[in-house]
Amino acid sequence: MIRMEHNDSAGSQGRLAAAIEALPLVDHHVHGALAGDVDRAAFEVMITESSVPTPPWMTQFDSQVGFSIRRWCAPLLDLAPPCSAEEYLARRHELGNAEVNRRLLAAANVDRYLIETGYQGDATLGIEQMVAAGGRPVHEVVRLEAVAEDVAREDPDAAGYAAAVRERLARQATTAVGFKSIVAYRHGFDVDPSRPTDAEVRQAADRWLREVGRTGAARLADPVLLRFLLWEAVDLGRPLQLHVGYGDADLDLHRSNPLLLTPWLRQISDRGVDVLLLHCYPFHREAGYLAQVFPHVYFDVGLALNYVGARSAAVVAESLELAPFAKQLYSSDAWGPAELHFLGALNWRRAMTRILGEWVADGDWTLDDATRVATMIGCTNARRVYGLPAS
Ligand SMILES: [Zn+2]
Repeated sequence: MIRMEHNDSAGSQGRLAAAIEALPLVDHHVHGALAGDVDRAAFEVMITESSVPTPPWMTQFDSQVGFSIRRWCAPLLDLAPPCSAEEYLARRHELGNAEVNRRLLAAANVDRYLIETGYQGDATLGIEQMVAAGGRPVHEVVRLEAVAEDVAREDPDAAGYAAAVRERLARQATTAVGFKSIVAYRHGFDVDPSRPTDAEVRQAADRWLREVGRTGAARLADPVLLRFLLWEAVDLGRPLQLHVGYGDADLDLHRSNPLLLTPWLRQISDRGVDVLLLHCYPFHREAGYLAQVFPHVYFDVGLALNYVGARSAAVVAESLELAPFAKQLYSSDAWGPAELHFLGALNWRRAMTRILGEWVADGDWTLDDATRVATMIGCTNARRVYGLPAS
């Protein structure tokens, strides 16, 4: 009797693992893979959210993501795991970045990518190049602040600025599947939640555009203009992604707690726009709460899974606490090395298999429910929110 139960449990674990492996994942927040070969110093900076050079007395490979690369990416480059960082980088160089992209993107087994092109676009593959490298459909997500900065550079006329931004966003909304805001980086979520008046926008634009003219640099951090962008995006009704939590040192992490957004989320709750909280770590439990109480709020734990590596199951388990399963999505938030595109998917699949498998083995969940929930989070929730076709 005991043996039968054991065999049955092993059988369901295998079936769950196979179902999750076969899921046509939608990576709903990701960036392009590396456009060319980079040296070791540059590669090390790309496998951390720190943007300063690695001190000589340490290596970024001594981290969860570094260990994951040596263990899980090595076999895809024909190396026996776990190889050393030196062996890995030498083999990577030998194969060349294009071949590494091809192998790792294929192994990620992602059905389609929603790519945000707003960050350091030159170092990474663009939309068309990602289609070529990955052989999968790619959709574009447009960063609001990048549009506002482009308009400021091209047409620094304060009187017509708001109208020009509005028109540009409306045009982008016809081709992009969604917008993204980095207000967390540029100000923090402790922003006035109300819509700024036209006069406030004109004044703020006038101030900022004069600064752009003087310094030649267009980096939008004015809270009035940031709010203007958020509200314009709400009007357009496309899904709106917000960077939340963990990110690089440009961020005041404590001001990116999504609970600070609660008043704004309340104000836009009847506007018919879905808000997607990205990454969220270490505020994924707060995000799960918001996803439960607000029908228009969704979240993911992308980025974090790459960097917590062998602890992915713990983060995924926490993300499955409060939030309805219809309110969660998969993302890698990979930027640059295709190792991150691959590991995002691998860590998510392994974590979901382990956690849901445990619940099935304990008799809390059925295998059918576990498979259904993994399918929702891995692909069907994203297809519904963004209006994507099935694979
Ligand atoms: Zn990102």
